[in-house]
Amino acid sequence: MTILTLDGRQGEGGGQILRSALSLSMMTGTAIELRHIRGGRPKPGLMRQHLVCVEAAQRLSYAQVEGAELNSQRLCFKPQRLEWTTQGTEHLRFDIGTAGSTSLVLQTLLPVLMHKRLNADVELHGGTHNPLAPSTDFLQRSFAPQIKALGLGEIDLQLNRYGLAPKGGGEVRMRYRAAPHTSGEAKAWMHCLQQRSSAKLGYGLIYGGRAPDALEAKLHTCEAALHKIAPATSGAIARELIDAGATGPGVVLHFGADLGSVHELVTVYPNRNESLERLCERGARELKQFLQSDAQIGAHLADQLLLPLAIRGGGEFRALCGDLHLATNAWVLEQFGYADVRLHARDASHGIKTVEVTVATRKA
Ligand code: ATP
Repeated sequence: MTILTLDGRQGEGGGQILRSALSLSMMTGTAIELRHIRGGRPKPGLMRQHLVCVEAAQRLSYAQVEGAELNSQRLCFKPQRLEWTTQGTEHLRFDIGTAGSTSLVLQTLLPVLMHKRLNADVELHGGTHNPLAPSTDFLQRSFAPQIKALGLGEIDLQLNRYGLAPKGGGEVRMRYRAAPHTSGEAKAWMHCLQQRSSAKLGYGLIYGGRAPDALEAKLHTCEAALHKIAPATSGAIARELIDAGATGPGVVLHFGADLGSVHELVTVYPNRNESLERLCERGARELKQFLQSDAQIGAHLADQLLLPLAIRGGGEFRALCGDLHLATNAWVLEQFGYADVRLHARDASHGIKTVEVTVATRKA
């Protein structure tokens, strides 16, 4: 068996290279050797959350694994289960044991489930809302509907307990039901993306511990920030979620725009000493960028849709420019020879940069 070697310092140089490589290794039956894992991060190597991604991939594919240890910068992964049966449902349970992101464990498993059309019920313990990772709400509201529209099955997430940094302790259950062969196609999905209806805006605030003092005034601050950016046509701003009692002392703010075919969800966490007013301004500015642009997909969703779109046979979309995650994930897909991804930067309008993304799946 030939082994594909990947350098974890490429592009963003973070955990995404590991997760996408594990997914593609299982999808294609390719043995991999990862070197310099998370080599672009100040503390490189495998952390708890990444180890659980490896564990999850191993459970699903009965892989032979070497180097799955805390802080390890090298990992060999050889999937063994090359014949997958679509009968029954996989029941899986993972406990990260820290506030590490449960969503990123799902990000490792979901492409394989979609590709092999495997049903799964997965229980996860750990972080549910982590800066620099998709929150459970993001997966449910922004990611899952696109997967369904692509004809790749139904993802349903149940958030039983919030897990915020630094404590974690959250609990999420995911139910994935694969799509039958024939449903949906990327062309219909791309057509649907063209239909942007007027934005319905909403917000949510999550507090660790007990309900804060003057909660109404705080909620008013969120609403006022959204009113400032609301397009003239939008109606009332929905208060979608107010939740106190999460473990951990954190605050999480969600600002969402439902455009019919796409739900963009901006999640922001306060920096040290940042007031709620400032946090709201920052979140609103981020959402406004998306609303003012002609992007169909937000920057975070863009990198997360590359593998699903490749699985669906390819397609294209216009996305807001973000960090290096998109280009890095494109690179991983190409290393496996699974798809070619073209990223074409467009001229900025209103000073907002967007990118045209084209995914062409290679035929086996
Ligand atoms: P590291 O610890 O190495 O930084 P990581 O394992 O957390 O890495 P990254 O390589 O940084 O992973 O990938 C993070 C993923 O989380 C990307 O898919 C990115 O799009 C997504 N992400 C980051 N912030 C958000 C956000 N606010 N909303 C939705 N998705 C996000």
